[in-house]
Amino acid sequence: MTRSLRVAVVGSGPSGIYAADALTDQTAIPVTVDVIDMLPVPYGLVRYGVAPDHLSIRSVRNTLQKVLDRDSVRFLGNVEVGRDVSVAELHHFYDAVIFTYGAASDRRLGIPGEDLEGSIAATDLVNWYCGHPNAKTDLIESAIATPTAVAVIGVGNVAVDVTRVLAKTPAELEYTDMPQHVLDALAATHITDVHLLGRRGPAQASFTTKELRELGELEATEVIVNPIDVELDPVSQATVDSDRVMARNVEVVREWSTRGPTGKPQRLHVRFFARPVEILGTDHVEAIVIERTTIDENGGAVGTGVLETIPVQLVVRSVGYRGLPLEGLPFDTERHVVPNADGRVVSDGVAVSGEYVAGWIKRGPSGIIGTNKKDASATVAALLADAPTLSPAAEPDPEAISALLASRGVGAITYQGWQAIDAAEIALGASRGRDRTTIHDRDELIRVGSGS
Ligand code: NAP
Repeated sequence: MTRSLRVAVVGSGPSGIYAADALTDQTAIPVTVDVIDMLPVPYGLVRYGVAPDHLSIRSVRNTLQKVLDRDSVRFLGNVEVGRDVSVAELHHFYDAVIFTYGAASDRRLGIPGEDLEGSIAATDLVNWYCGHPNAKTDLIESAIATPTAVAVIGVGNVAVDVTRVLAKTPAELEYTDMPQHVLDALAATHITDVHLLGRRGPAQASFTTKELRELGELEATEVIVNPIDVELDPVSQATVDSDRVMARNVEVVREWSTRGPTGKPQRLHVRFFARPVEILGTDHVEAIVIERTTIDENGGAVGTGVLETIPVQLVVRSVGYRGLPLEGLPFDTERHVVPNADGRVVSDGVAVSGEYVAGWIKRGPSGIIGTNKKDASATVAALLADAPTLSPAAEPDPEAISALLASRGVGAITYQGWQAIDAAEIALGASRGRDRTTIHDRDELIRVGSGS
C-alpha cells in the first residue's frame, strides 16, 4: 500500500486510546487513526466510570490526551456506529476497524424484587454522579432522596466506589468535578446505614486493598464488621497464604472488626457470606433478604438456609458490567463479548478480515485501566501483522466519512471541539473554586463543542 494504513477505533475509552497510541507510536507501518465515539467527549470510563473523588486515577486523561494531540490521530465524537454509520460502511472508509466500545450495561441478579422501585444498578448511579449525558437523573435522584438505609450488593471496586460516594460528606466531595446538581442531591440525602454485602468471604472479594482501606477513613461514617466474618475456613486460609492481595484485604477487614464505636453519625456495615435472595416491597424496596453462606472446596458460595431480613429503602446492585452486541458484529451471548482470537474478531470460527477488538468488549469487564494498555497493544500487534493481507478501503480519503456524516446531519465533534468543552469545564469549575466541573447536558456539550 503506498498510502498510510487507515484505521478506525470505535470507542475513546482507555482501550481505544491505547490502541490509537500503539498504532501511531510505531514507524514500521505508517498509520492514521480516527477515534470514533458516540459521546461528544472522549475518555470513556476514565470520565464516566472512575469515581470523581479519585483525582489521581482520573488524571490518566492527561496521558490519553497526548495521544489525541497527535497529527496522525483524529477524534470524531458524537458519532454512533450502528446508528449514524454502519459497521459495513466503516469498512468502506477504513482498512481496518478496532472495536473498543466497552461494556455499557449491568449484570442482573436474577432474584425476585430486583425491578422494584428503589432497586438501581450501580452503573446507573455511577453514570449519574459522573455527569454522563445519558444519565437517568430523575430515577437516581428520586431513589436516593429519602432512604435512611441502603444495601449495596457486591464487593468489587465499583461497589466500594458507590458506597464511598454515598457515605461521604459534602465537604469530602466538594473538590470533585461532579456536576452541581449531583453534589446538591448527594448533600440532601438522609442515609445513616449502608450495608455492603459480599456473597462470599473477605478472602474471595474482588476489591483492591487501597480502595478498600478508604472505606475505613470516612469522615462521618464508622465501619462495622462482625468478627465472625473474618474467621477463615481452610479454603480461605489457603487463599490468604498464597495471595498477597487477599491477605492484605483480610487484614484490613480484620482490623475493622476490632474497632469500637466512634460516635460518628453514619454506619457502614461490611457483611460477608451474605447472598441476596429476595428484595421485598409492595411498590418500593422495603427490605432485602440475605442467606448466610459458607465456602465450598472451590471457593464458591453455598447456602446454609439461614435467612435474615435487613430493612432498606434502596438497593444498589453492583455485580458487574455487561457488554452489549453491536449490529454487524458477531456476539457471544453467554460471555457478553465479541468472539475473538488474540483480538481478531471471529465469526463461526473464522477470523473476519479487518475487524479487531480490545478492552472489555474483547475480554469482559475486568482489570484496572493499565490492563487495557497491554491488551490494546496485543490487538494492534495482530492488526499490524495482518496489514499486508488487509483489503484496502474503497474510499480512504479522510474527508469522505466526514462528508457522509454531514450528509446525514451528524455533527461530529472534533478534537478542537473537545478542547473547547475542556476549557469550558475548567472555567465552570473555576467559577466555583474547583479545578473543573463536568458539563452533563448533551445539548450543551454539543453547543460548546461545535462552537455554535
Ligand atoms: P467485579 O470486580 O467483577 O465485582 C463484582 C462483584 O459482584 C463481586 O463481588 C461478585 O461476587 C459480585 N457478584 C456477582 N454476581 C453476584 C450475585 N449474583 N450476587 C451477589 N454478588 C454477586 O466488578 P466491578 O466492581 O463492577 O468492577 C469491574 C472492574 O473495574 C474490576 O476489574 C474493578 O477492579 C475495576 N474497577 C477498578 C477501580 C479502581 O481501580 N479504583 C474502580 C472501579 C472499578 P463473586 O466474586 O462472588 O462473583
